Order: sequence, then structure tokens, then C-alpha cells
Amino acid sequence: MYAFYDAYFIASKNKDFFLQFINKYFNNDCLLCDSRTEHNAKLLCDLCMSDLDLYPLGSDLLYSYSSISSHIIHDAITGIAVVSNYQWPFEQWIPQMKFHNHINSAKLMGQMLNEHLANSLWPTIDLITPMPIHSQRLLQRGYNQAELLCKFINYSSHSTLFHGLTRTKYTQPQTELNKIERKQNMKQAFACENTVQGKTVLLVDDVITTGHTANAAAQELLNSGATAVYLVAVAIRKYN
Ligand SMILES: [Zn+2]
Repeated sequence: MYAFYDAYFIASKNKDFFLQFINKYFNNDCLLCDSRTEHNAKLLCDLCMSDLDLYPLGSDLLYSYSSISSHIIHDAITGIAVVSNYQWPFEQWIPQMKFHNHINSAKLMGQMLNEHLANSLWPTIDLITPMPIHSQRLLQRGYNQAELLCKFINYSSHSTLFHGLTRTKYTQPQTELNKIERKQNMKQAFACENTVQGKTVLLVDDVITTGHTANAAAQELLNSGATAVYLVAVAIRKYN
């Protein structure tokens, strides 16, 4: 409250400061071109949005893009939705969110996930779970980027956030390993509460590369009684 009076006091003396204050808290600049967005809930202007190369809203990679999904391990996953390939500007926004706690990048990408989910033909999701990271990594990074994305997802009023899936093994990044090592690396990497019994679960992640990590998490959810597991991610990175 005092902050407001301070701002008001300064603002009454300085019109420019007051305008800056209003702009900072009640309007948004486009994350790409810095021009003012038309609506304060939007973080990208319409022109920049139209420049992005996105997968169609509601499309499922497993059914509409089998040439892409055939390179991903997904036998425990019923459906996969992604916003874009791992390319500009997502290759900038994702590290900003992951390593620099850039809340506006997380918000924008979370909103994009939300839009995909709202248009999907998937059945009702009961539980939404961020892809967990190991406690050691959480300590290093301070937060889980998938959890940050989940804050901006409001899939339906029937779905609730679930934190019963945990990462029990500190694993090497999958991209540093060969095919056999990747599978081995993910063995018993997750644990799950059995409260998922009979539930449809949505896994939320930032990037899919080989699919091994998401698939191992999905398998653990199925082993614990989940009916089906769907995956939504911001980007898919091609792995050679
Ligand atoms: Zn723009």
C-alpha cells in the first residue's frame, strides 16, 4: 500500500514517471519487437505471432506427423502435442525460462500450450504433472521449468495439478548418450504415488528430444495405475 502512495506521490510530481509506471505494470511490450501489444494479457504482437512457424492448434504428433514421431520413443504415451520445432525464437525463450527464470517467456509458452490443449481432441485430463527434475538439479537451478509452464496452464476445471511423480535418479543428459545408454539411463529414474489409479494424466515438458525421458515418466505413471498418459511440450528438437 505504501508503495502505491509512494508511486502516487512521485507520479503527481512527474507525469513521465507515472506513465512509465502504468506501462510497466498494466501493458506489455512484445517479447520480440518491443512494440506495444494490443491487449495487456498478450506478450507477443499479432505481427510477430504470425511470423512464428507453429504446429496447427490441437494437432497430435502421433497421428498427424508420423514421420516426426517415428523418431521418438513413445510406446507409453497416447498423444503428443508440441507448439513448434526447436528453432527461433523458442531456442532463445526456452533457455531464458530454464536458466534465467524469465517469467514472461514461461508465461507466453505456457499460454501457447494452453491454447493447444484447449483445441485438442484428447479426452478429459484428470491430472496435470510437470516433468519432474531430480532434487539435486532443483537445488542447482532453484526451480523446475516445467512447473513454471504449468502455472499458466488451465486445461479444464476438472483437471488438477499433481506432484506425486518424482525423479529418483540423477541422470546424465540424454543427448550425451548413445541409444543403449539412453534406455539404461532412464531405468528406474522415476517414482510415482498410486493416487493416479484410473486417472488420465498430462505430462508437461519444455523440450522433447529422443522421447526416452518422457516415455520413462509415462511408463511409471502407467505402472502406478494411470489409464493413459498424454504429453505436451513447447518444442521438439531433432536428434541425430
Ligand atoms: Zn512484435
